[in-house]
Amino acid sequence: MRCLVTGGAGFLGSHLCERLLNDGHEVICLDNYFTGRMANVAHLRDNRCFELIRHDVTEPILLEVDRIFNLACPASPIHYQFNPVKTIKTSVMGAINMLGMAKRVKARILQASTSEVYGDPAVHPQTEDYWGNVNPIGIRSCYDEGKRVAETLFMDYHRQNNVDIRIVRIFNTYGPRMLMNDGRVVSNFIVQALKGDDITIYGDGSQTRSFCYVDDLIEGFVRMMNQDKIIGPVNIGNPGEFTMLELADLTGSKSKIVYKPLPGDDPKMRRPNIDLAKSALGWEPTIPLRQGLEKTIVYFEELLKG
Ligand code: NAD
Ligand code: UDP
Repeated sequence: MRCLVTGGAGFLGSHLCERLLNDGHEVICLDNYFTGRMANVAHLRDNRCFELIRHDVTEPILLEVDRIFNLACPASPIHYQFNPVKTIKTSVMGAINMLGMAKRVKARILQASTSEVYGDPAVHPQTEDYWGNVNPIGIRSCYDEGKRVAETLFMDYHRQNNVDIRIVRIFNTYGPRMLMNDGRVVSNFIVQALKGDDITIYGDGSQTRSFCYVDDLIEGFVRMMNQDKIIGPVNIGNPGEFTMLELADLTGSKSKIVYKPLPGDDPKMRRPNIDLAKSALGWEPTIPLRQGLEKTIVYFEELLKG
């Protein structure tokens, strides 16, 4: 099949492109290189089944494809807050443009949604039927609300136009090809540890997250796209829950811990209930945090060596 991956030169997108090529598909990687890098897909460029397009999803485009994976959107707070208006445009207009294309060429389309649709959750762990607790006017809203509207658009194109949709809600995912400077906690802690810099904990470090290794996540994407049982939304994440202090410990760092102010609206806890993914997709994560961190540390070590 011919697959389009928007945001394909980013962290998750590049792993997905690689996986789809390995599964025997043709892949078109579309990216505007805001947070993605050509280097992430450089090793795929000699493959005859791989094509790169520089394009911004806020602009319409028509491509003859069978499947669309819509990942285009900066994912890290410092990047999505850099130009918040552009972030919400990317989610909303990007969804409209990709859904319009899916409708026209009758492609199946998957939206990379997020656990951020649950906001600072009052239900724990989060199940898909929870509507969330999102501040509509805060500094995370451009991302959270953009992703919520994208879900709405997916459901409405499905109900109104019969578009064949899939929605996955991704929980914090980490692994090789995260940007060194993108400010997410796993890359921050690892790079700080490797450089011997202080480890920066925001707030008191008691907030929790659940971290999924990238290979597990991509397996979830592929299973979701390859089945006809459910359209979602379905949570894809690792239910192992850790405080940021525990995570700092796990990076094995000898660095000093320094405490910085907690950013506004930072969710206090987050953990997926993955019963639906288990029953409908037969999916669950296989790589424990400690093991995934080791692989990620090796990647950053190589990168820092230059
Ligand atoms: P990333 O920033 O590495 O990748 C996003 C990609 O989209 C980049 O290559 C970027 O250049 C591209 N992009 C951004 N705006 C664009 C635009 N207007 N037009 C075309 N391309 C554009 O982030 P990621 O971690 O790989 O996330 C990929 C997707 O998964 C995002 O939609 C994100 O919201 C979602 N997600 C990721 C996580 C996670 O933990 N990594 C969690 C929840 C959801
Ligand atoms: N965080 C931290 N130190 C850092 C970067 C992040 O303590 O150097 C915290 C952040 O405040 C949040 C958690 O780690 O509570 C996860 O942050 P990240 O940006 O990775 O993901 P998100 O908040 O979007 O889930």
